[in-house]
Amino acid sequence: MPPDPHAAAEPDQVPPVRDGRAGTHAGGPGVAADAVLLDVGGVFFLPDHAGVIEALGRAGVHADAQGLDRAHYVALAESERRAGGDGAEAAALYPEAYLRAAGVPPDRVEDAARELFDADLGYMRAPWTHLREQAAAELRELAGTGVRLAVVSNADGSVEAQLRAFGVCQVGDGPGVPVALVVDSTVVGVAKPDARIFRIALDAVAAPPERTVHLGDSLLADVAGARGAGIHPVHYDPLGLCPADGHRDVASIGELARVIGE
Ligand SMILES: [Mg+2]
Repeated sequence: MPPDPHAAAEPDQVPPVRDGRAGTHAGGPGVAADAVLLDVGGVFFLPDHAGVIEALGRAGVHADAQGLDRAHYVALAESERRAGGDGAEAAALYPEAYLRAAGVPPDRVEDAARELFDADLGYMRAPWTHLREQAAAELRELAGTGVRLAVVSNADGSVEAQLRAFGVCQVGDGPGVPVALVVDSTVVGVAKPDARIFRIALDAVAAPPERTVHLGDSLLADVAGARGAGIHPVHYDPLGLCPADGHRDVASIGELARVIGE
């Protein structure tokens, strides 16, 4: 993994994740790009509310749908901040951070973690199927700027079919936005933040890395990964939680489209 420029030197001394967009590093000049690569989890799809509520119910937890989307972004920000650049550590910290953010009481965390995050049986093992409102429309807006598009996802081999089934995007003509390629880590055998997965997508969009943007919600897999491949990272940060400088944050795919169109 490339060194993480956002690593916390003293994780326990890092202030808690902010709640709300600070706006200190969200602006700046437009981004000149011929191509945009896109993450999927967190950017297009989130965990299905009903599935999460049902799984938590089996652990004796009554969860409310409101707040579950937020729980993902809070957990991702917290786990990556605490992991200090270690992707495996961030993945290990994510479940408890998610459950806490979803309002699971401390005495139910163990059971809830089993129902949601067990490596074999947990609900979160399945692909996330809650398509964010506006995401598909905003992708059309992004395509309208004239950039070439590709998807780069750490997934289970099913993400291309899922994107097509939901009408988000597909290679060639179809109900969604045409993209040059959907790169699924399981299919190609290499995962973000490894630069090789980004190079596969760069070949497909036929753009040099310095004229390419990658949009994703993970500082480790997406921001550091793209940077390691020489690509401009843009951090998908809808809640304004990002504590790091040195890259642009956007709150939506539409915001990226407007930044590229500037
Ligand atoms: Mg993601």
